[in-house]
Amino acid sequence: MTTKDTLQDNESLIQEQLRDAKLVELPSELKESPVIHRGDGELDAPMTVKELSSAGYVYVWDSRTYERAPVLYYMLPSILRRRRDDGSFVWTTNDPKKLHERGTFKCLLHKDDPNRKEYNKMGLRVCKKSNIINEFEVKQHMSKKHSKEWQAIEDMKKERERQEDRADQKLLRDTLIGKTGEPPKAPLYVSNKDKNKK
Ligand SMILES: [Zn+2]
Repeated sequence: MTTKDTLQDNESLIQEQLRDAKLVELPSELKESPVIHRGDGELDAPMTVKELSSAGYVYVWDSRTYERAPVLYYMLPSILRRRRDDGSFVWTTNDPKKLHERGTFKCLLHKDDPNRKEYNKMGLRVCKKSNIINEFEVKQHMSKKHSKEWQAIEDMKKERERQEDRADQKLLRDTLIGKTGEPPKAPLYVSNKDKNKK
């Protein structure tokens, strides 16, 4: 494909998005925080809601972060043509919807898991999944995708709890017997009244 063809393709893509873009109502949250565009090289001045009151606007989504931003309809053509340094388009009028499904919980086998060192010792694989919606879904993911590892992790946790319990009991016993060298604690409060009576 030649450069010209690619440009034409991009142009038809933009035209398509312009055609499909729907004007939207002004949401109340925007009235509270009216900055619509932070301003940068191409669109230097930050836009505010005031300027929108007489013109319709549409939503665009950052094609990477899925961050949504309202823009003036008549500015849409130039906004849709904006590109990153790598040539990819910054904004799209296609609602990715993924935003709502994206979570921030990580698979327990993620490399950043606090127990990773131990998992390495156990020979557990690494999983890259890091967009799980909640803890319940983490468990679902673990039982579906890594059932063996999940079992091993659960066993490890139980074993650790058992050991901690045992250590606690030992400490308690040793303290009572006086093995640790620390005498049992004296009562914290001695009443003065009793002393005065004597
Ligand atoms: Zn996983």
